[in-house]
Amino acid sequence: MKTHALGLILQTLALALGASRPSQAQSSKAVPADTIVLHGRIHTENAKQPWAQAVAIRGAKIVAVGNDADIEKMRAVGTKVIDAAGRLVLPGFVDSHIHFMDGSLSLGRVNLEGAKDASDIQQRLREYASNHSGDGWILGRGWNYAMFGPEALPHKKYLDEIFPNRPVFLEGYDGHTYWANSKALALAGITRETPDPPNGAIVRDPKTGEATGALKESAQELVAKIVPKPSRAEKLAALRAGIKWANEHGITRVHSAGGDFEELDLYDELRRHGDLTLRFYIAYFLNPPLLRPQDLEAIESARKKYHDDWIDTGAVKFMVDGVVESHTAAMLEPYSDDPSVKGKLFWEPSNYKAAVTELDKRGLQLFTHAIGEYGVRTALDVYENAAKVNHTRDRRPRIEHIETIAAADIPRFGKLGVIASMQPLHSYPDSNTLNVWARNVGPDRASRAWAWKSISDAGGRLAFGSDWPVVTLNPWEGVQTAVTRQTTEGQPAAGFVPAQRLTVAQTIDGYTLGAAFAGRREPSEGSLEVGKLADLIIVSQNVFEIAPQKFADTKVLTTIVGGQVVYRAGVK
Ligand SMILES: [Zn+2]
Repeated sequence: MKTHALGLILQTLALALGASRPSQAQSSKAVPADTIVLHGRIHTENAKQPWAQAVAIRGAKIVAVGNDADIEKMRAVGTKVIDAAGRLVLPGFVDSHIHFMDGSLSLGRVNLEGAKDASDIQQRLREYASNHSGDGWILGRGWNYAMFGPEALPHKKYLDEIFPNRPVFLEGYDGHTYWANSKALALAGITRETPDPPNGAIVRDPKTGEATGALKESAQELVAKIVPKPSRAEKLAALRAGIKWANEHGITRVHSAGGDFEELDLYDELRRHGDLTLRFYIAYFLNPPLLRPQDLEAIESARKKYHDDWIDTGAVKFMVDGVVESHTAAMLEPYSDDPSVKGKLFWEPSNYKAAVTELDKRGLQLFTHAIGEYGVRTALDVYENAAKVNHTRDRRPRIEHIETIAAADIPRFGKLGVIASMQPLHSYPDSNTLNVWARNVGPDRASRAWAWKSISDAGGRLAFGSDWPVVTLNPWEGVQTAVTRQTTEGQPAAGFVPAQRLTVAQTIDGYTLGAAFAGRREPSEGSLEVGKLADLIIVSQNVFEIAPQKFADTKVLTTIVGGQVVYRAGVK
């Protein structure tokens, strides 16, 4: 912690010194820039200088921001010149909520995203199997609840038809429900007699009591634990592909919300080989029921080891509830489609409170997954209490997702300084959202669905991300959704809860400066200004000038991280 605080002080100091004499830096011929970016339409995210034409970079940092003529003066023999050719230049995008290892591994597996129905899913699985023959596990992800009609849950019969003897295990798009075939259930030893694990459910046929193949929440672990694990080499190869994928989409930093802390040494190995071109802020995933001494030890020893611009730790992720579609998100009032369920908290509130208070006292940052209005309220209450008893300020605790919220809780984000970390593409109004999600929550709660505009208007700070592999990490589809609240086909015509539409500037802020703030890194990242890290992107179209219906087509042309070009469109 000490080193981290010192780092921040030094960064702030450097920034203050740099900012106090920009003209000197700009006119200084004696110290040329390593790289200059000219002829851009640069949206800096710096309120004092919102737009510029050119940027000069020395080492990993920005040394000047200004017009072409000023920056041209910093050019010398050996200075690399990047011509932005009038294109939009933005700070590198931060993905505030990602599961990077899972996402990277998913790149080599079956992708069911966007499938129409069960037969379309079968078609994709057949195709995958024809390229991956043998009798090994078929793994994949991306189905959603609406693909199975009104039942809104998958069934093993669709898989058994094509794979009677090969185990198949498919994660739902949200990561909260899994789908296994009979072979996989048999290998896992799941029978009629197998009891439901804590915080999980083996979905059963109401007549026969037999498992249907749908496994909710922690029940998936019964199968997951027997799936062969990828080797270290396979994981490293997956991460290299994932990092390339992120850079290609303009992402320069990610905040990991689970599944990466255990792999910190792999990220470190990539760094030692010079292959780390994406910055990582990695949270420890704390499972219920309690904060144990061994959790604290793991968190603290990682914090001591990893606390720089490339690999940073010091955050802890909680998950207090599940998801709306499977009725596991914790609500204040029963679900509209099934009044017998309200969802329940995964954490005993007193244990959650004790853990948050202890971690906050140590200066750690807290992330809490909360999707139901009761989950959200619980997190706000516990954060409020921790600040009060610890006398801490500006800890920036975060709530992740916030799909539903009680009206009374909306102003509490601004008031308490709690960050709303949300994923615009989760609100994408397709049939999963309109027919399953909205049906389950009912019209009153749906009127406050993904209420980022209300939270922002009430003074709350937004940070955006993808939750990859839950949805694509391509942020441009998310940008479009936040602004339009419509599908790419323009549905619904009036928008889904159109009162929550954001402006382009607000949305870009959520992916850049807002996200840097949410990772406690705004002194050195999130905007293009002197003294900050040179993380920036050049994109194919100016989203400030075109119709929002075209935002999703935006392509990244160049990605620069720490002053180095890590991606150029068309260059391998
Ligand atoms: Zn997540």
